[in-house]
Order: sequence, then structure tokens, then C-alpha cells
Amino acid sequence: MKIVVGSIQQEVNTFSPIKPTKEDFFYLHGEDMIDQIAVTPLFRENGVEIIPTVYGNAVPSGRMTAKDYDAFCRELVDMIPDDNDFDGIWLYCHGAMDVDEIGSAEPYLLKMVRDKVGYDKPIAVALDFHANLDYKIFDYANVICGYRTAPHADMPGTQIRAGEALLRCIKEKLLPKTVAVRVPLIISGDMCITANYPMNQIMPEAIKAEENPELMAVNVFHGQNWADVPNAGASVTATVAHPENVDLALDTCKRIANKYWSLREEFKFMIQALEPRTAVAEAVKSANAKTSAAPVFISDSGDNTTAGAAGDRADMFNIFNESKELFETMKKPALLGGVCDKPTVDKLWEMNVGETATVTVGGTFDKNSPKITIDVTVRHKSNILNWDGDGADAGRAVVVSCGHFDAIITENRCALISPEIFASVGIDINDYNIICVKLGYLYPKLAEVAADAIIALTKGNSTVVLDTLEFTQLDKNNFYPFNKELVFNA
Ligand SMILES: [Zn+2]
Repeated sequence: MKIVVGSIQQEVNTFSPIKPTKEDFFYLHGEDMIDQIAVTPLFRENGVEIIPTVYGNAVPSGRMTAKDYDAFCRELVDMIPDDNDFDGIWLYCHGAMDVDEIGSAEPYLLKMVRDKVGYDKPIAVALDFHANLDYKIFDYANVICGYRTAPHADMPGTQIRAGEALLRCIKEKLLPKTVAVRVPLIISGDMCITANYPMNQIMPEAIKAEENPELMAVNVFHGQNWADVPNAGASVTATVAHPENVDLALDTCKRIANKYWSLREEFKFMIQALEPRTAVAEAVKSANAKTSAAPVFISDSGDNTTAGAAGDRADMFNIFNESKELFETMKKPALLGGVCDKPTVDKLWEMNVGETATVTVGGTFDKNSPKITIDVTVRHKSNILNWDGDGADAGRAVVVSCGHFDAIITENRCALISPEIFASVGIDINDYNIICVKLGYLYPKLAEVAADAIIALTKGNSTVVLDTLEFTQLDKNNFYPFNKELVFNA
């Protein structure tokens, strides 16, 4: 048995000014990619000869150009054997990538693949829970499997589910059919943690439905809300092993979609979400009330790099700078984590630890960002770990003292999602009472150790105040919560 494998993954934030190029992708080619995908051991156990193509994964950001994306896809497709001597194709994509002029990225790649290989071989695709599904994908993919966790803890598991489904397709000579029902919801991803109510009432329905062997995959997709695309929003998909049973798939989608809709008002922030200055004041109050050595985290949610924002806004930098008296009530200092400013890092990198300079930080990408000009003392210089777990670093970072607080300034956009990433720039998080990060909800490794967490409702490309987002590609009135009177019945 021979299976072609490939992966191009990125989540778009169409409000972000960052234009990714292929250089922004963690990229592997040919044999090198085989160990990067989680499905390899499964395929090897089943005696599969794996035919590698390309693997590309980039942090969320704005739209790629059509030319760059087309070349990326072309490279993947060109590595599929011309003689069609293989049995199936396994792909790992995001589902909410979007490209200038092209639109939804995944159907474009899938169509290019089908144009080359035809329609008589099964294709299984693994996607992210935050996919904004464009229905064209179902014309080309037989099986769709999505993550079932947010924060995402089942990325390998989802790849393997898609791999197992593909093996079954090949062994039983199946060409399954996937259908979907769109649920008219555009709800902040920060209101949806799958382990918590209400998604913990919805996702198990999909998992249970999959116990029927005819239903090869049943998924709930929450959508990526920072995407002004016509296919934005939530959806439920179901794959049937035999296309003649498509009614079973549709009925399954409708049942779960109606449940999802019925619980729409239950999606809420699970932690305090406050105006930025109030968030800082509450964080200090919380830190002072706790005996734990661990810090209280504040999420600068409008500039959340893991949601594709620029990561260079200085709103919280300014607020921290104006909070001297407040911070002096704490036993330990405050830390501002991970503002991206390459010119400032260039300047500070030339200096020695202990030296002082006046720097201006903020707005190198996001032209709407405030800036701050401030005197800083260099405390530490080193590269900072990347956040996507590939072991690479995210470039140079400088830790500076700003008097009554410290700050980490990075040359590239980064995301401080774990204590290890802080440690890579010489920081023990327990040395601080409060830490501000450019995230939404805390990733599990920070959530585990945080004494408390508060969302600051800051401005930026990933603002969680969704009413302030301007959608041009879809009518907000057709979605909850923009239209609270909306009626839906799948
Ligand atoms: Zn996601």
C-alpha cells in the first residue's frame, strides 16, 4: 500500500497587517517531513510505503499572496507521482487559511491535487477546530477530521484519525462522502474551551455519532472569528463510508448543529474580561490577595499573536508604564511579555547587559498601535523559543528593565505560551507577581501554573470585542451574536 502525505497549515487573521511568505513557514521537504507528521507510525505499522511531499506550518497572520501560495501548492502537487502508483492521499491543513485573490486556501490545494490524480483515489484531510469551512472542499476531499479540543491537545490524534479513516478507505475500497451544516455563529474563540460548558455538551455528540461505523468522521468546527471571509463561522460535518447514505450524514449534522445553536447564549468568557486599565488593577489586587508564588496573568487579547495579530502593539506597555504606584504595592515586579519590535531589538542587541538606552517601542506593523518612548536597561539577551513545538527558536529577544517593571522585546512575532519559553530568555515566571502576555485564553502549560488569569479587552487585530470588527464579505446580520433575534433551524 502506498500513501502520499502532505501538509500546508496556516490560520488567517484577515485583519492582520502581516503578510506571510514561504520564508515564514517552518518548512520541510521530501523525506525530512515524514517524522514531522503524527501519522507516520500508524502507516508504518500497516506496511504503508509513505510518499512524502512538503510540510509547511506558519504562525497565524494575514493573507499570503496568490502567487506565493500557488507556488507552494504546486510544489506539493509536483511531488505526487505522475504515474498515479499509490492508493490514497493524506493531507494536514488548517481549514481557516485564506489567500489574496484565491480565498479559502484548502479547496484550492485540494482541487489542484484532484486535477492531477483524478477522483478514484480517497483523500483524507485533518483540520483545525477553528476551520472556516468552504464547502468546495467537499468536492475534493472524501474524509474530513477536525481537532476536538481547544486549546488544541489532540493535534497528533486528529492526524491519526484521518490516517485510520484513509486506511479503511483503501482496505475496503471506499470513496466516502462528507457533508456539512453551517451554524450561523461567529463567537470568539476565547469563549470556547472544549472541556468547558457549553462545548462539552456539543463535542461529545460528534464523538458518540462516530461509534456508528458508517459515520467515518463527525466533527464540530468553531470557525476562526478574525476572518472577514464569506465562509466564516461554525459548522458541523459528517462523513459517510458510502455516498448513498448521505442522508445519515446530513441528519447527524443537523441534529448536532441544532444543539450547538440552542446553546449559543452559553458561550461566555470563562475568566474576567475587563477594560485594560481595570484588568491591570484587578491583576494587582488578585496578586496581592494570593499567597501562591505563581504570577497572575493578563492577556493582551487584542494583540494575540496565536490568533494572527501583529504582536507589536504598545497599549499595555503604556499602561504598565503609568502604573508605578500600583505596582509598588506588590512584593514582586510585573513583567510585560513579548512585544515585537525589530528596530528596537537591533539597537539593544548591540549593547551590553547593564547598559541603558532610550527606545521607542510599538507599531512597527500595526499602524494603529500607540508607541512608547522609554528609558530601559538591558538585563538579558538571547534567542527565544518558538511556540509551535518544532524546537526552533523565534529569533533574538532582549529582556529590559523599565524601572518599575520588566519587558521582553522580540525581533519576531512570538507567543509566550509556556514557562519553557520564558526560561529560554532567562526568566523564571515565579519571580513576578503579574505577567502580561499577548494571548487570549492561556495555553495549558501557563493555565496550570497561573495563580489567576484576566483578559484585558485591548484593541488590535484580534480584539475579542467582535462588534468592532468590520466584516465586508458577509452580512453580520446573518450571524449570532451580531443579530440576537436570528432564527435558525437546521
Ligand atoms: Zn485552532
